[in-house]
Amino acid sequence: MTAVAARPAADAALWDPAEAIDRAALRDLQLGRLRSQLQRLSEGDGFYAGRFRELGWSVADLRSLDDLPRLPVTRKADYIASLGEAPPFGRFAAVPSDRIARIHFSSGTTAKPAPQFWTQADLDRWADLYARYAWAIGVRPGDVFQCLFGFTWFVGGLGATAGLQRLGATCIPAGNQDTERQIATLMDYGTTVLFGTPSFMVHLALEMQRRGIDPARSRVRIIAVGGEPGASVPATRRRIEALWNAKCYDAYGCLEFQPIAAECEAQDGLHLFEDFSYAEIVDAESGAPVPDGTPGVLVLTHLDKQAGPLVRWFTGDIVVRDSSRCACGRTHARLIGGVRGRADDMLVVRGVNLFPSAVEDVVRAMPGLSDEYRIIVDKSVREADTGFLNGIRLQVEALDPAQAASLTEKLAAEIRARLQVRAHVEAVPVNSLERSTHKSKRVIREA
Ligand SMILES: [Zn+2]
Repeated sequence: MTAVAARPAADAALWDPAEAIDRAALRDLQLGRLRSQLQRLSEGDGFYAGRFRELGWSVADLRSLDDLPRLPVTRKADYIASLGEAPPFGRFAAVPSDRIARIHFSSGTTAKPAPQFWTQADLDRWADLYARYAWAIGVRPGDVFQCLFGFTWFVGGLGATAGLQRLGATCIPAGNQDTERQIATLMDYGTTVLFGTPSFMVHLALEMQRRGIDPARSRVRIIAVGGEPGASVPATRRRIEALWNAKCYDAYGCLEFQPIAAECEAQDGLHLFEDFSYAEIVDAESGAPVPDGTPGVLVLTHLDKQAGPLVRWFTGDIVVRDSSRCACGRTHARLIGGVRGRADDMLVVRGVNLFPSAVEDVVRAMPGLSDEYRIIVDKSVREADTGFLNGIRLQVEALDPAQAASLTEKLAAEIRARLQVRAHVEAVPVNSLERSTHKSKRVIREA
């Protein structure tokens, strides 16, 4: 386990020198860590020890990082099955249960939430990576941080709070409820930094305006969003930045990997935390690696996690990688445009790959519409004989019903021009589409 670095001087550009390590040295470091991680997993009676034995695979077979793809991916179904075999910790824990310092659970819709585990050293590492992110977007000791991620069962709130506390900010773990009190706290304590979901950032700003308070005149100067596609959708970023007169940054994580990638002040893609996890981008169908610049599914392997480490975890998230050095000087590769969509949310319309985030960008850039939208895939847009899609149905909310007809026509033309996809746009009454402060469901599939 890597010891976490001491807090740098306030004028230091980097939280950790490892962020700008030469890429050849980075690969050496990754290989060394991967070998010891996999060696530990080969011993004992956990999931991976069993899998490696079945495959006749040993760590000696890992001569370079390019040998890792010889191992099969780990899927959510493997994890869920292991919970059933050895409840309640399952066969991925990799440490005795008395060394587990924290358990978080999936917020998913499956019948039973799946747990993930951290030792104290894992928690320290997690906080340090979050501090690294906050530092990279300009947060410094003395900032006042109001955490608008949920805390109840959800993984984001505690993670961000621990990280900014480690950085030396004044932390207010506020959660994502009670708008009235959020606004009062933000004004009373002169909050300068907000973390939360993009939809909650918009909601809070609009609620402030409704009360005659201009969020752009608050002291908030840095906003970090995650949990849904957000700052990487240009229209959403512009909207949040304009409402708050602040810079808006995107970060990406999942329960299994906290965190995965986060922006820097250059706002030109999300830096992976490559000394913490090893990233592969693979074709969704064949599993073969794809080159930088080509969309593929992100597959992640923990390099030094003690409790619940995962090997070749199939995230299901579609990303595009750029391994060139960023303008900020960091060498860790970036995910350009953040998460493009879920492998299972991606629609193929007449051969065009379409992600909900691309539709969102067009919807949110069009004045006269609310921020909400819903894509419906049903038989009206499927070819009767093949089932292939020839378009999408799109529902949006027109703020002024008298404008609905002209707006839907304009939006359909815009989607056709920008995304090369035919859309049947329908206007529905304002507030009739589902609002959520966390992960709104954007694609509805009907028979
Ligand atoms: Zn950068």
